[in-house]
Amino acid sequence: MDIFEKCSKFTAAKEAIAGGYYPYFIPLTENEGTEAVFRGHRLIMCGSNNYLGLTTHPAVRQAAVDAILRFGTSCTGSRFLNGTIELHEQLERELAGWVGKEAALVFSTGMQTNLGTISSVVSRDDVVVLDKQDHASIVDGAKLSWGKTLRYRHNDMADLERVLKQAGPDVGILVVVDGLFSMEGDIAPLPAIVPLCKKYGARLMVDDAHATGVLGGGRGTAAHFNITKDVDLIMSTFSKSFASLGGFIAGDNEIVQYIKHHARSMIFSASIPPSNAAAALAALHVMQNEPERIQRLDEIATFMRKEYRGLGFDIGKSETPVIPIHIGDDFRTMTIWKELFDAGIFVNPVISPAVPEGSQLLRTSYMATHTDQQLSRVLETFAMIGKQVGLIS
Ligand code: PMP
Repeated sequence: MDIFEKCSKFTAAKEAIAGGYYPYFIPLTENEGTEAVFRGHRLIMCGSNNYLGLTTHPAVRQAAVDAILRFGTSCTGSRFLNGTIELHEQLERELAGWVGKEAALVFSTGMQTNLGTISSVVSRDDVVVLDKQDHASIVDGAKLSWGKTLRYRHNDMADLERVLKQAGPDVGILVVVDGLFSMEGDIAPLPAIVPLCKKYGARLMVDDAHATGVLGGGRGTAAHFNITKDVDLIMSTFSKSFASLGGFIAGDNEIVQYIKHHARSMIFSASIPPSNAAAALAALHVMQNEPERIQRLDEIATFMRKEYRGLGFDIGKSETPVIPIHIGDDFRTMTIWKELFDAGIFVNPVISPAVPEGSQLLRTSYMATHTDQQLSRVLETFAMIGKQVGLIS
């Protein structure tokens, strides 16, 4: 048996490429904020996580350039050994303050933050409890740990309680949820999750990858619900509102210290480059000094959800700037994606396993820097194509 046999049998991508509707790994020649260019074809970007539009903010760009000039292009080593610079520590202090925790620890990506945090905190006899729609990096962090993983139905509190009971009384339990679910755009009901965690002696970690800069005045989901002290660990990434690359975990000092000395994805991987750390720090300062961006994003999101619902699209339970258009099968999701792409709108087609079978969707997401004119064009195009393909009447 040849280990590569599966590769020659993998034809899905080839078929989509031949059919002209392959929607992934699109090499953009320009991707500067609200518009992108693919082979001379200009598109309105409704598929980015650049929620506050900070990748092109002058102060953020300049901070990255200055950091390269001061520290060079790479730290060429792990945080643990030669790869920590003062900028990392300043960033950690300021992030901890922003999300309302004692300490924070910066990793090289959000993925590595979840892998390292969950696998170091969850030991052999512990249980990690996940929402079925948690991000893949959380699922993989649980897999990397030696503990047992239990999953409950998405945002279903009765099912969470069932699972917490099943975990048993004498084990350590870590519940991990996305604060803002990245595909459906709905929010984890933390005010219901917290009392359940307390009742069953579980600790709670919230992945705010999509919520920092968006919810709670930019401080995230716990702040949105005003329950920061009841969330033990707050995780986030720099690859979205922070307009950079990297991630962090924040919590009580002694927990962060433990993770710092046990998280293999941090210890055995090089630290984020100075330019990324500086861009994230500058983005944090913009969040703090230009709250009108967060406000504008919220207004855009409310407007777009209302308009899509008014047109008759099924946008599920979205309450945020992540607005899915439910389609329900792979082929239709790809072909409608292509129609929108040709008409100048960039969205993300999401098929299983990223969402459960039958829940395939086009993920749209918005930025504080989208203009009213761009948003009108997006809605007109969606209305036209939605009618053509029978998604709406
Ligand atoms: N958590 C969630 C909820 C995410 O959406 C993502 C990125 N898509 C990550 C973690 C990983 O972040 P990064 O891109 O920094 O690896």
